[in-house]
Amino acid sequence: MLESVLIANRGEIACRIIRTAKRLGMRTIAVHSEADAGALFVQMADEAHLIGPAPARESYLRIDRIIEAARRSGAACIHPGYGFLSERAEFAEACAAAGIVFVGPPASAIGAMGLKDAAKALVQQAGVPVVPGYHGERQDPDFLRQKADEIGYPVLIKAVAGGGGKGMKRVESAAEFGAALESAQREAAGAFGDPRVLVEKYVLSPRHIEIQVFADAHGNVVHLFERDCSLQRRHQKVIEEAPAPGMTPEMRAVMGRAAVEAARAVGYVGAGTVEFIADGREGLRPDRFYFMEMNTRLQVEHPVTEAITGLDLVELQFRVASGERLPFTQGDLAIRGHAVEARLYAEDPEREFLPSTGKLWTLAFPESEGVRIDTGVEAGDEVTPFYDPMIAKVIAHGPTREEALEKLAQALGETLVAGPKTNVAFLKKLCEAPEFRAGRFDTGFIDRNLDALGAVAQTIDAEAVRLGVLKLVDMEFDAQSYRAFAEGGAPSSPWDECDGFQLGGARRQNFPVDVDGERIDAVLEWTRVGGAQGNSDVTVTWGGGTSSLLGDYMEADMRRFVQTDQGVIVLSEGRQTRVSPYDPFDVDLEHLNGGNVVKAPMHGKLVALFVKPGERVEKGQRLAVVEAMKMEHALVAPADGEVEEIAAEPGAQVAEGARLIVLRTEG
Ligand code: ADP
Ligand code: ADP
Ligand code: MG
Repeated sequence: MLESVLIANRGEIACRIIRTAKRLGMRTIAVHSEADAGALFVQMADEAHLIGPAPARESYLRIDRIIEAARRSGAACIHPGYGFLSERAEFAEACAAAGIVFVGPPASAIGAMGLKDAAKALVQQAGVPVVPGYHGERQDPDFLRQKADEIGYPVLIKAVAGGGGKGMKRVESAAEFGAALESAQREAAGAFGDPRVLVEKYVLSPRHIEIQVFADAHGNVVHLFERDCSLQRRHQKVIEEAPAPGMTPEMRAVMGRAAVEAARAVGYVGAGTVEFIADGREGLRPDRFYFMEMNTRLQVEHPVTEAITGLDLVELQFRVASGERLPFTQGDLAIRGHAVEARLYAEDPEREFLPSTGKLWTLAFPESEGVRIDTGVEAGDEVTPFYDPMIAKVIAHGPTREEALEKLAQALGETLVAGPKTNVAFLKKLCEAPEFRAGRFDTGFIDRNLDALGAVAQTIDAEAVRLGVLKLVDMEFDAQSYRAFAEGGAPSSPWDECDGFQLGGARRQNFPVDVDGERIDAVLEWTRVGGAQGNSDVTVTWGGGTSSLLGDYMEADMRRFVQTDQGVIVLSEGRQTRVSPYDPFDVDLEHLNGGNVVKAPMHGKLVALFVKPGERVEKGQRLAVVEAMKMEHALVAPADGEVEEIAAEPGAQVAEGARLIVLRTEG
């Protein structure tokens, strides 16, 4: 086995690789940015090297610095994980040039599959079915539109250099084509430094089914069955499972052979995934699936394959990289049970899944049989705007699909996470959705069911507010005076000086709090229970209900209350309600200037500006585009009006909440 490994990645995948490497007795070497100096993967590794500032371009994408760290530490091999440099042929070449083993396919295979147009042409020659469309050189808009007309709408425009769902636009009609093409090219140029696109038929009722392949350097290639990754948002996977519901042994064999052929066509070595799109209108049929792309690396969702095969794919990667033969043949492999993975993200489903950042005040997962958690963060860590906002992968394995989904739903229900907003409640609802449970779904399932999945703006959780207020009251009592209070003495809270507390009587008090940025006036009442000699209680009334300290609060599960530097976060069914004492001097930027200010929804880059000062705009009109994390977000006019001020230039980095455009609105 290789003596040591440098992990050219961060977060959960770095932790996951380190775990296997340690089990195999390898020395583990981390490289990290300044933002990750205290990260879990840095702590886990035997040694760690700083390679640059937070932005990936200056650290995790710096081939020179990573190779230099590998040289310095004497690393025998480099594992690239997924994302970052994992699919960059020049990185594999740089490793080879430095005499370090690259844990991945040969640079030539990465190159051959790196561009979607060339990859399609190549596998088509090997007899693999591809999505009908145009994947040639010409890029002029009129020509591409003509091709789209020939293919027939809907079509999909894809960046040839794309990945991570970026640079992809579904087009319904010829009229929309021009604008969509422009947007796709801009996204592609910005994200991949290559504006070229291909146009293909949008497959109807699409099911994303991919085949895990594995090849050694001795010409052996096998497949490790399929994964169904059809639950997606914006072409990005949300829940993945293996095997695929509705898959027949016949279709599995046909797809498996096609994937192995695709791998052979490029002289593949190591772990790879061949992604297909299947037309699911009449169930899965062996003549209705098409190659989309090959990912020449370990996949985010590889744990579901590990669960059903009992293999450790990272271990196999190391063995193959050190020249060993695959320890099995196709016939030795079998599927055991069913596995499902959910990607827990720091994002807000109630605000169109905007990525959310900040400190993780709590993060706790259940420990139960058949549940695996892959994470790269722990409570106290910060989710920063620099990298992918994934917090963890929760994977459940059971004898049947039903049992695996049940286990996953339960694990998500028992997951405690507070700080950044997360999709934990959304994921749980997905696992419980009856249609999905019944195996009736395609890649449009999430978008069609956003309401039912709770991914819409919700009203304030009044009970959570009341419990939060009571938690604040509780936090204000010091232990001793609280005891005196509970035993019948006078309350000793900072709010009690002003008015006289009457023995045996009730005292009311307005108690303004800040709830998720909104001022709320709750009413506190100090009461005696059980007559003059009895205990004192505090009740809070707001939002059409009343809750009491000695009753509702004391009976609540204390793990639902997460103390922060501002106040408290109350958890209920995965939702977070932030309650803090209202501070009139804390200027509320959110609500300054009311509804005529257009602000950056998150940290990002202003990539396009469509208006000039003095220009008239209509409510809903697109004003600008901010690119953040992985996506373009269109900013629209909140009302009819005139552009009064523009506060940022295209190309500028903008901070979350920054004023970008001010409108002069009527009325
Ligand atoms: P998977 O099929 O493994 O889920 P994804 O396309 O979702 O693959 O990407 C896996 C990871 O790699 C994600 O974290 C994504 O952000 C990242 N990623 C994918 N493609 C790129 C790319 N071209 N540039 C940077 N990051 C990428
Ligand atoms: P990426 O490199 O971003 O992963 P893919 O080509 O793998 O790009 O496509 C991402 C997703 O977009 C797929 O998982 C699928 O849901 C959807 N998609 C891609 N091509 C098609 C198509 N021709 N018809 C319908 N959906 C598609
Ligand atoms: Mg893909």
